[in-house]
Amino acid sequence: MTDNAQARAARLIHLRRSGYSLGDPVPLPLTMAATYHSPGDATGYNQYGRFSNPTWDAVEKVLAHLEDAPCVAFPSGMAAIASTFFGLLKAGDRVLLPSDGYHTTRGLAERFLGKLGIGVDVRPTASFLDGGFAGYRLVFVESPSNPVLDICDIAAVAKAVHAAGGILAVDNTTMTPYGQRPLDLGADIVVAADTKAPNGHSDALFGHVASRNEDMITAVTDWRLTSGSIPSPFDAWLVHRGLETLEVRFDRMCNSAELIAGRLKDHPAVHGLRFPGLEGDPSHNLARIQMQRFGFLISFSLASAEQADDFIAGCELIQPATSFGGVHTSAERRACRGDAVGPGFVRLAIGCEPAEELWLAIKASLDRLSA
Ligand SMILES: *Cc1c(COP(=O)(O)O)cnc(C)c1O
Repeated sequence: MTDNAQARAARLIHLRRSGYSLGDPVPLPLTMAATYHSPGDATGYNQYGRFSNPTWDAVEKVLAHLEDAPCVAFPSGMAAIASTFFGLLKAGDRVLLPSDGYHTTRGLAERFLGKLGIGVDVRPTASFLDGGFAGYRLVFVESPSNPVLDICDIAAVAKAVHAAGGILAVDNTTMTPYGQRPLDLGADIVVAADTKAPNGHSDALFGHVASRNEDMITAVTDWRLTSGSIPSPFDAWLVHRGLETLEVRFDRMCNSAELIAGRLKDHPAVHGLRFPGLEGDPSHNLARIQMQRFGFLISFSLASAEQADDFIAGCELIQPATSFGGVHTSAERRACRGDAVGPGFVRLAIGCEPAEELWLAIKASLDRLSA
């Protein structure tokens, strides 16, 4: 971790310190409220639960500290993404999305934006700069892309998109602000599913939008208030708790992923291994420049769908489940989710188990396949 990231992580824990009164609880109180005491037509107070909530404010303050930018909380990653589409686009605009990114982002655009007169194009992450960005109001990048883990040069894309008069949004879910900082690379907006590593305990969905552009923050805040796409205060409280340990968990997960990817490379059952941290990986050289960490997602293929299912179900320290970023190492065969990958393609999401134990369990399950 850089000195900056260390300073950010250390201070995150103490963000609430200056606001305490004598006898206040040190942990964040949860405010469950649809209504607030609000006589007359007072402004500047909480009035209604769709407009504001102190527990949202607290989690947004932590997220803003992490992103070094104002943040708006949403009930899921998709709700955050939807706020950028519906809050920022109008009829006649065009958007560009990765063809190999999170499939629901494409689904949302293709099924709902077209009907509003907004054009949608897609392009692979690995060659995202090819073709330029003329005519796009919003360009949306996911790097590394989920699940194949291709990356693109975010700073170069930001420069080219701005030169063409558009805005750049980056889905930073797979990396978190500890692993990659798209706003510092020139992106206008970050969206993220805090459902994943930031909450980290697989028990809440959550998302946020971060931006240093005031008009964009105003637009997505207005979308949230008006559409009612608001997070539950309890989920905000859970994510606040999760964020306090994100740095410890993320560091463990990234370290373990580096160790395990390096060993998977030499296992005879594994082919097509992808991990941005591996020397020789197509993403590696650029990853070293634009990412702080290489992340905790690894992808590879086994000989068949049956082998992949056997490997996942037969490993005592892998939880068969979709999603990633929880304390459990988990894996899934992504062809089941409709991604354009082969039948034996596995996305392995490293969790918080001690790395050597985890490797032994993974190796045992792979060795069983080839036996
Ligand atoms: C999970 C995920 C999302 C969607 O988040 P939800 O909280 O499930 O709505 C968006 N983008 C990426 C890259 C994801 O992995």
